[in-house]
Amino acid sequence: MKQNIYGMTTKDLEEYFISINDKKFRAVQVYEFLYKKRYNNVDEFSNIGNNIKERLKEDFSFDKIHLVTKQEDEGVKKYLFKLQDNEYIESVLMYHDYGISLCISSQIGCNMGCSFCQSGRLKKVRNLESYEMVEQILLVEEDIKTRITHVVIMGIGEPFDNYDNLIKFIKIVNNPKGINLGTRHITVSTCGLVDKIKKFANEEGQVNLAISLHAPTDELRKKIMKIAKVYSIKELMDAIKYYINKTNRRVTFEYILLENVNDSDNCAYELARLLKGMNAYVNLIPYNETDNITYKRTKDVQIKRFYDILKKEGITVTKRKEFGSKVDAACGQLRSNYNK
Ligand code: SAH
Repeated sequence: MKQNIYGMTTKDLEEYFISINDKKFRAVQVYEFLYKKRYNNVDEFSNIGNNIKERLKEDFSFDKIHLVTKQEDEGVKKYLFKLQDNEYIESVLMYHDYGISLCISSQIGCNMGCSFCQSGRLKKVRNLESYEMVEQILLVEEDIKTRITHVVIMGIGEPFDNYDNLIKFIKIVNNPKGINLGTRHITVSTCGLVDKIKKFANEEGQVNLAISLHAPTDELRKKIMKIAKVYSIKELMDAIKYYINKTNRRVTFEYILLENVNDSDNCAYELARLLKGMNAYVNLIPYNETDNITYKRTKDVQIKRFYDILKKEGITVTKRKEFGSKVDAACGQLRSNYNK
């Protein structure tokens, strides 16, 4: 099968051009055509001989994923894409005061089985290829006719369950000859695959890490997240400390507030105790209620109390700006509603 051109790093392309007895510098030329000029096919490439163009057409696919539908609400746009094998994934675009961020999917479905999450209701079908992650950015930029400044891998899927394709994706979009997205503008969100967190700490670049913690104790975390049965919070924290030591980056802890589940004052104190002294901050996420899942969103007064306790205990805390509840923007909602 032909490889998709959007899944190639410049190094891969250099090796390819050497293998066909052409020049190494073509790799950068191709990157400029694809990512600076945004040409969609080889015929638009200039300064490349016809024989090489024919070879490129034979050896690579230039196909992209297809935009099926989009929904808009103030400050947010949600995209549904269809892949070549007729599967669906989503991306969510958010306009912030600091820039434009795109939340992309890393898998079709998810096997992590977090009890509050819609994505996990549809089991993992397969990993996304690197090119399918890259193309989410290209298609959204084409739609909004401007450049995205931040990417978060926080859509459908567990990115660390698709580790190699994730790393390749980051290499491709970070390349200054291509999309040129700085690693500090990329955030990977994980439910906490401990071995992969350690591996990630040793990768090049300064990609941000966000951890979906959602509970301060093992007992509670096991009730809402299956992964807590595999790794204890102690093991998770050790891996995160290793990451912080190694990279000097501040880690984000995501904490969804579920009414009467993990939102008590006591939980806030325990969370503060757990994180005290760490180079970290907490992002409180008001739960986005979804069909068929009975959890309720914590009331605003209790969100405020939880926030204030963390603050008083010396933890840096933010509350996630709410986007897109009208556009099914919580993880997996557009896809699962479309499948119905
Ligand atoms: N698997 C990765 C990334 C995808 S989930 C992870 O677990 O981090 C991205 C974030 O959205 C996670 O923090 C997840 O817990 C949260 N999330 C899932 N469903 C949600 C909902 N209905 N409302 C608010 N946040 C949700």
